Amino acid sequence: MADVIYSSTRGADLKVKASEAVLRGLAPDGGLFVPDHIPHLDKTLKEISQMNYQQTAYEVMKLLLTDYTEEELKYCIEHAYDSKFDTDEIAPLTEAGGAYYLELYHGRTIAFKDMALSILPYLMTTAAKKNNVKNEIVILTATSGDTGKAALAGFADVPGTRIIVFYPKHGVSPIQEKQMVTQQGDNTCVIGIEGNFDDAQTGVKKLFTDDNLAAEMDKAGFQFSSANSINIGRLVPQIVYYVYAYTRLLAGGRIADGDAINVVVPTGNFGNILAAYYAKKMGLPIGKLICASNSNKVLYDFFQTGSYDRNRDFVLTSSPSMDILISSNLERLIYHIAGDDAGADAAYMKNLAQTGKYDITDEMKAKLVDFYGGFASEDETKEAIKSLYDSTGYVIDTHTAVASHVYNQYKKDTNDNTVTVIASTASPFKFTRAVLGAIDKAEAEDDFELADQLAAKAGLEIPEAVSSIRNAPVRHDTVVEVADMEKAVKNFLNM
Ligand SMILES: *Cc1c(COP(=O)(O)O)cnc(C)c1O
Repeated sequence: MADVIYSSTRGADLKVKASEAVLRGLAPDGGLFVPDHIPHLDKTLKEISQMNYQQTAYEVMKLLLTDYTEEELKYCIEHAYDSKFDTDEIAPLTEAGGAYYLELYHGRTIAFKDMALSILPYLMTTAAKKNNVKNEIVILTATSGDTGKAALAGFADVPGTRIIVFYPKHGVSPIQEKQMVTQQGDNTCVIGIEGNFDDAQTGVKKLFTDDNLAAEMDKAGFQFSSANSINIGRLVPQIVYYVYAYTRLLAGGRIADGDAINVVVPTGNFGNILAAYYAKKMGLPIGKLICASNSNKVLYDFFQTGSYDRNRDFVLTSSPSMDILISSNLERLIYHIAGDDAGADAAYMKNLAQTGKYDITDEMKAKLVDFYGGFASEDETKEAIKSLYDSTGYVIDTHTAVASHVYNQYKKDTNDNTVTVIASTASPFKFTRAVLGAIDKAEAEDDFELADQLAAKAGLEIPEAVSSIRNAPVRHDTVVEVADMEKAVKNFLNM
């Protein structure tokens, strides 16, 4: 079988193996690593339907991370998807309101970021060994709320690594913030910035591509890598749960072998839905890829018009992990629909950096037929939580509610009744105020008190991820201006 080789979306020259792409995170020219081909699943869906999550993960990941040995990959998978998940199924499906909710929030930090960030530290330390890396790896991450905590939990006290997380000081939920600032581990650093997520992400990308800084770091025995969803070490593990969801439906007799399913994904940085797109390319029978946005509906507009335009106001919503105007992973889709053309992609991204927008060609637009874009306003998000709760008793979080609304809109719009999987990306307990406010009233001042009330209403137990931080001491309280991000990094590294 031919090795999968990775190159940058913005230049064809550099070619690396999977482990090196995982280590680097981002290509030196600022592009994202993309595979030169996407292999087809080499087991039948019937066969996979008899496998558990870990076995399914191996069948998918071995095809894209081809320079990892079987032993290495199985070691990573077994250590990642273990009892830190609160169910053996890892990603269970729950049927409610005419769709299947794929619950991706049973990991340590109760958001779907755990699905990939539980394994990334293993993929990365294995890659460091394979590539004879002597430097300490410094994970540099911008977060809209969920990546930060999931990355911190994954990398805390992992030998040979340090992790620095930047989050928008005024742009995350109180529980998200408490989760991060109470993080244990001497190798962890959490910093609030006076800016939004896009500012944090742009600042981090700048640090990544600064050659002088890289040289200084190297001298001091450090090198950067990324835990953001631009890292293929995050993308690949996310393909797994789409294959898993499909094969569970098959095993349960909900679909017949080969039937198409639709997937709905609440989208921000376009990582999760891109994984579904790759799953489809690997032969998984997916019909429509339904991309759900909140009021920051830059992706909805893009799918409508073929014009990507970030020149608009940034809206703070009740689904903060999707408050994004520059969806990084869309760059990979642009590259692919341009015919794997790095030159074309580089030109679009230059336009985006300089003018905040770009327009794709009609030919490229024609390749987006499998995508459907929709969005939910704040009221529609609330209503989606309430109506599902009222009719079924099932409680979903605000991000998942955006997807739920868009799915209902899609059905009305198209009369397409294909069996549908909705990616459920966070536990409702992560966004208690908004969720409880939607189904009842959220009057208590303290978010933890609200969690008690939500638990009673939903007939659920408060997840360990919330109860354990309730009285935990704050360990990180630094807040900096965007301009001072580099200083903050050097400070933590004693450089
Ligand atoms: C990160 C996140 C999203 C968006 O996922 P992308 O891969 O960035 O599109 C949606 N919901 C939740 C809860 C998240 O944490």
